[in-house]
Amino acid sequence: MVVDARTGLPVVGIVGAGQLARMCQPPAIELGISLRVLAAAPDDSAALVIPDVVVGDHTDLDDLRRLAVGCDVVTWDHEHVPGSHIATLAAEGVEVRPGASALRYAQDKGDMRRRLTELGVPCPEWVDLEPADDPKGTLAEFGARVGWPLVLKASRHGYDGRGVWTIDGLDDAADLLASGTAMLAEELVPIARELAVDVARNPSGDLAAWPVVETVQREGICVEVLAPAPALGAALESDARSIARTVAQALDVAGVLAVELFETTDGRLVVNELAMRPHNSGHWTIEGSRTSQFEQHLRAVLDLPLGDTAVTAPVTVMANVLAGGGDLEPAGLDERLATALGTWPDAKIHLYDKSWRPGRKVGHVTAQGNHRDIVRERAVAAASFLAQGDPGSRS
Ligand code: ADP
Repeated sequence: MVVDARTGLPVVGIVGAGQLARMCQPPAIELGISLRVLAAAPDDSAALVIPDVVVGDHTDLDDLRRLAVGCDVVTWDHEHVPGSHIATLAAEGVEVRPGASALRYAQDKGDMRRRLTELGVPCPEWVDLEPADDPKGTLAEFGARVGWPLVLKASRHGYDGRGVWTIDGLDDAADLLASGTAMLAEELVPIARELAVDVARNPSGDLAAWPVVETVQREGICVEVLAPAPALGAALESDARSIARTVAQALDVAGVLAVELFETTDGRLVVNELAMRPHNSGHWTIEGSRTSQFEQHLRAVLDLPLGDTAVTAPVTVMANVLAGGGDLEPAGLDERLATALGTWPDAKIHLYDKSWRPGRKVGHVTAQGNHRDIVRERAVAAASFLAQGDPGSRS
């Protein structure tokens, strides 16, 4: 262990300084662990609350090395670091968790689909559209087999629904295929609802999962998380957990793994995608579980024993604060915060100190209780009010 000479306890380096790195800081403080972040700018969300900041570029190997010096372990706030850099750091003796061989399945949807299919994990029907291998012909054959419309996805760099297109036929796909971007096609899954199961694994092989949650999506963006997923049933709960366990073990994940799932209209589960870091579907665990995903991620990447994932209330609902497009925000946020704290004294408000772009996640609100409808109404109203000054606009 490197350990911080000031504390005698470990130092965790985090590449990226968004809200995920930021939310690791409270549990790091509690455990006495020091964090060090690689931030693109000194006013990044996590750089505002973590004193040890390296300003640099996550695609620059030397900047990554500057972060790694003095860290026990390096982990990720996002999946955009080139795999070759991660492998180089590991070869130079840096503990990177999760490592390049696991992270590639969260970086590339084609690699992920191939590997999950090999493992027998249920996925939508899919096909690779290699730019070099007659993608148009492959797509025509695939469309004839699974039917139109279907879904095209860029293999890399998608988020919040960017890089996902529903297309009605070959003509619709022409421009996308001509762009030369690596893509895959998937059947259009008949989705009843979207779910997620989050699990943590440490390098010793210990696993701990949280209950399966429902992620409510609007225009490709997660707007609410309902924990636990309403009326899921024991069989699907157990299937989802078993998928998460299989993936975490087979891919040798260290840290938090989020498995996004579709529940189909005929009652099956299929995997949508994977994230190997704390994830929006797990923000509810800050208040809703004995151990939050952020604390668990730190424990897991340091190969410490994992914490208890028992829930703290029958129902927890998290609603994202999504920056609107008007001229209200963020001007007046201080007043809206004061009003929200007074109106919903039981709700827990988290703001990320991020700049406001339309649709961007700039905070979240968590509410808890016994009755889902009431809890949900309060979380959504507070989040809408913080975003737009109007508690009713999203309910
Ligand atoms: P991103 O990486 O941008 O988050 P996702 O792969 O999660 O993209 O897809 C974004 C959204 O598009 C999903 O939440 C889901 O609503 C929809 N979607 C993705 N794949 C499919 C599919 N095969 N069938 C139906 N809808 C899909």
